[in-house]
Amino acid sequence: THFGFETVAEAEKAERVGAVFSSVASSYDTMNDLMSLGIHRLWKDYFVRSLNPGTRTDDKGWNILDVAGGTGDIAFRMLDHATNVNLDLNTKVTIADINPDMLAEGRKRSLQTPYGKSGRLSFMEGNAESMPSIESNSVDLYTVAFGIRNFTDKDAAIREAFRILKPGGFFACLEFSHVDSSLFNAVYKRWSFGAIPLIGQLVAGDRDSYQYLVESIEQFPTQEEFKTMIQNAGFIAPGKGYENLTGGIASIHRGVKP
Ligand code: SAM
Repeated sequence: THFGFETVAEAEKAERVGAVFSSVASSYDTMNDLMSLGIHRLWKDYFVRSLNPGTRTDDKGWNILDVAGGTGDIAFRMLDHATNVNLDLNTKVTIADINPDMLAEGRKRSLQTPYGKSGRLSFMEGNAESMPSIESNSVDLYTVAFGIRNFTDKDAAIREAFRILKPGGFFACLEFSHVDSSLFNAVYKRWSFGAIPLIGQLVAGDRDSYQYLVESIEQFPTQEEFKTMIQNAGFIAPGKGYENLTGGIASIHRGVKP
């Protein structure tokens, strides 16, 4: 088709995702804190700590690509960890995002960090499903946090991650997932379907966008299904392939490019 989308539904989805994130860019933190009761910060801290960026023994540092990096939440933590834990001043992060409003917010926030003008952070507007400007076998670590759920073609994005990673490089995804206990799930569903759209309406003045977010979580593949998608792209999924956080409300999937 003219837009390169296979169906009208996919084109609508892409448009919808664009509108959602343009609408939420400025109230992004407040909404995340309210919706997750602040827990998204702990998940992000753990995600970054578990990847331990900046541990190369030569002086090159890691080349990290944070896809759907939006406002910089993951990128700033990566650089903090490399710098403060591993005393590495060479690790660099590129934030890629499809939405210029989210990137603009990230750029603005980066000026409040030590990295804004350090040359260790760069920004790139682009679609995760095809990033031709990034060379094959060039990236040490690919991260995507709370982003892949919104991609129209998730398999294409995972294949693209595989292409650009170096052999031995890591794919790491933090995403909302599926709760493993039925009792906890009942409480969680009440919260997400009841409270989140309401909070969206009251705080961001936008009920529909948050209704969409809740539905997109529900529709996301299960932990095992998503692990298989990662393996199908050619990755080795170490251990169980994923780690549940807070009973499966979120999970971390990791893959190594052989
Ligand atoms: N990673 C950040 C975090 O954890 O706070 C931001 C996550 S935000 C919920 C999702 C981001 O995915 C938005 O900034 C949106 O613009 C971006 N996004 C959606 N579809 C995308 C695509 N196809 N390619 C790249 N980024 C995309």
